Amino acid sequence: MLVVCKFGGSSVSNFDRFRQVKKIIEKDENRKVVVFSALGKVDQEDNKITDLLYLLSAHVKYKVNYDAILSKVKERFYEIKEKLNLKIDLEKEFETIIENIDSEDYLVSRGEYLTSLMMAEYLGYKFIDAKDIIRFFYDGKIDFAETYKLINEKYNKLDKIVVPGFYGAYPNGDIKLLSRGGSDITGAILSRAINADRYENFTDVDGFYVASPKIVDNPKMIGEITYDELRELSYMGASVIHEETILPIQDVNIPLYIKNTFNPDKTGTIITKDASNKDEIVTGIAGKKDFIAINIVKNKFSTKLEIIDYVLNVLKKYRVPIESIPTSIDSFSIVVEEKLVKKHIYDIISDLKTNEDIIDVSLDDSLALIAIVGRNMVYKPGISAKIFSLLGKNGINIKLISQNTKEISIIIGVQNKDFENAIKAIYDGIVK
Ligand code: ASP
Repeated sequence: MLVVCKFGGSSVSNFDRFRQVKKIIEKDENRKVVVFSALGKVDQEDNKITDLLYLLSAHVKYKVNYDAILSKVKERFYEIKEKLNLKIDLEKEFETIIENIDSEDYLVSRGEYLTSLMMAEYLGYKFIDAKDIIRFFYDGKIDFAETYKLINEKYNKLDKIVVPGFYGAYPNGDIKLLSRGGSDITGAILSRAINADRYENFTDVDGFYVASPKIVDNPKMIGEITYDELRELSYMGASVIHEETILPIQDVNIPLYIKNTFNPDKTGTIITKDASNKDEIVTGIAGKKDFIAINIVKNKFSTKLEIIDYVLNVLKKYRVPIESIPTSIDSFSIVVEEKLVKKHIYDIISDLKTNEDIIDVSLDDSLALIAIVGRNMVYKPGISAKIFSLLGKNGINIKLISQNTKEISIIIGVQNKDFENAIKAIYDGIVK
């Protein structure tokens, strides 16, 4: 049995939490490969080391004195070293960091690097630097084939290793960061490369909630969820892990467990290819505010295909990703994120109006999209009817409806002002 674990920043934010993490790892001898984020916040007032390092890098770039921030960063690591009696030579490590301080990716990656170096010593695990195993192409994409090869060259199944998350390197050795929260992806890549039996992602919540606790009081936890459902929910704003985490593991079906460092015996949420539970109709509800619909009315004699093609090309020119295209016979809407079109909206409208087959363009702003996701909705009549009647009873007007034939999610659009009430109504009426 081989388990890859990843601990997020809040799980390792001070020496006490280092102790807690050690206990968790030692409780199961299969936890042989461990990935760490950089020291996170101890409480709300605190700072994440990664944020401090980005700030430090900005100071370096604009040639502003950075001593105070550097001391803040150093203090956090020195405190852990002292409290846990570690041997790591932090003087030397920080000397090297200062010598290379001009490179932002290198500097910011030092959060994960130092946290993992200290953890490796504290756990008695071997340290493998992510720069030697996570390989990028020069266009910034991950070279998965080379990465898997490098990991297997360095890793022998008996080893117990610690790997820093969030970064890798180009073939010339220069450090390259993943996107924010990317340590989750590092863990998934390692799980795939060594064919782990399980990937455990430790964070500071028990798992995924059926709906956001910011909207619904005491929502239920999701016990089991499929990779596809999770993609839908993460895309719609449910953010416990990085939305790309499952990509390396889903086609080889390595189960992902979301667990809580501060409540480690709780099972958490288990993400697999086919979740077994068939009782819950709705697995999760998530949504996002601030979309805009660009409504197009076309001339009755023109073909819709050509007009849609024209409109999509205009949006492509402005690099605006599309969420949904509800259509009727002579009109259709293109739903996009408001913040992504704000700057260009008048240019877009004027480009659209240059096509003489488009007879009207109007906008509906302040839309919210809500995804009701559930693998068990397939072939079950009456779910949409129930959603619509719940919203109707609560006086909520539906602006948009979309579902594809896979039936894994129903997306509805409401006005921003109805967003929270719509989620509450659906949760209370179907899940509770
Ligand atoms: N420390 C990085 C961040 O704050 C990466 C991570 O935590 O996964 O985004």
